[in-house]
Amino acid sequence: MPAPEVLIVGQGLAGTVLAWTLEQAGIGWRMIDAGHGAAASHVAAGIINPVTGLRWVRTWRIDACWPEAKAAYAAMARDFGVPLWREMRIRRWWRTERERRDLEAKCARGVLAPWVQEVNATNAVLGPAAQVDLPALLTAARRRWSGDGRLSEGRFDWSSRAGHEGVVIDCSGAAARQGPFATCGFAVSKGEVLRAALTGLADDTILHRGQWILPVPGAEAWIGATHEPGREDTEPTVAAREKLLATAQRLTGRSVMPTAQLAGLRLAAPDRKPVVGRHPHEPRLGICSALGSKGVLYAPWLARQWAEHLRTGAAFDPAIDVARLGW
Ligand SMILES: Cc1cc2nc3c(=O)[nH]c(=O)nc-3n(C[C@H](O)[C@H](O)[C@H](O)COP(=O)(O)OP(=O)(O)OC[C@H]3O[C@@H](n4cnc5c(N)ncnc54)[C@H](O)[C@@H]3O)c2cc1C
Repeated sequence: MPAPEVLIVGQGLAGTVLAWTLEQAGIGWRMIDAGHGAAASHVAAGIINPVTGLRWVRTWRIDACWPEAKAAYAAMARDFGVPLWREMRIRRWWRTERERRDLEAKCARGVLAPWVQEVNATNAVLGPAAQVDLPALLTAARRRWSGDGRLSEGRFDWSSRAGHEGVVIDCSGAAARQGPFATCGFAVSKGEVLRAALTGLADDTILHRGQWILPVPGAEAWIGATHEPGREDTEPTVAAREKLLATAQRLTGRSVMPTAQLAGLRLAAPDRKPVVGRHPHEPRLGICSALGSKGVLYAPWLARQWAEHLRTGAAFDPAIDVARLGW
């Protein structure tokens, strides 16, 4: 008898990469999604940044996750017939003397190799970095899966979960705070981005000075992103717009006219690591979420963990297993 199907709740980045990965592993699934209106994945710039924060911190698990992510998005791009992955670099200016000293000390100790390509008088070039076109991925996947009947539009009611025979996996992003994993202590951080018509930027270089400008081929650029921990609304604000425009002006020396402003919520676990695995008290429930601001890097790794678990019973990596979150 075939194993009962997986039901994936949510078609953001987490649900999309999970569904595609299960399909590659020959595992059957269905999906329900409430619409992309509130999906963080439609707001995200899709950047993978290997070194982040004021103290130049090497992104957690970057060395293992980078090749896996690169291969996975390349395979998705071939399968869906849309370009997804752009290899880039990030030119980041430091804003204080302390930032410069920290970077130089870390470079001298070799702890950021091979992710810093150059350090000069005012800035550093970080890379390789990448950008994944999330709207293109989500749109192509939705078209295919709506067409073949595997994705249905609607809001899953968690109280009806007993009616489903297989595993139900929560990929609902910020809505996971209201579902069966609500006790995990998740927090949100509101983020906003602008889109603007900006010509003359090098296509392969993200400019970064507190906030960043991401050039998009075709004379558009994305400017982002704000972080407002604890704010729960997704309304664009004047304050965020002004902050982002000020950075853009500083980075380009030009006044910038935005064409759109978007806001979304990032979901994070208390230890800021992603969350995957089965509910400790209700094992027919699972989760693949809390991608924070690094969803693009981690989603393929989390999806592979689920595929291996469902195929062979393999344990989830304890560092990201939901069981770690104090049940
Ligand atoms: C401004 C901003 C910039 C960002 N930039 C980057 C970046 O450059 N790089 C990066 O890696 N990450 C970035 N992120 C983070 C990234 O957006 C997230 O890590 C990732 O998109 C989260 O994906 P998700 O699938 O978990 O959630 P979402 O994308 O929020 O998707 C959840 C889906 O579930 C659906 N849903 C919810 N509840 C239900 C229900 N009960 N039934 C059915 N469907 C439901 C929703 O409708 C939605 O479609 C950024 C985030 C923000 C806000």
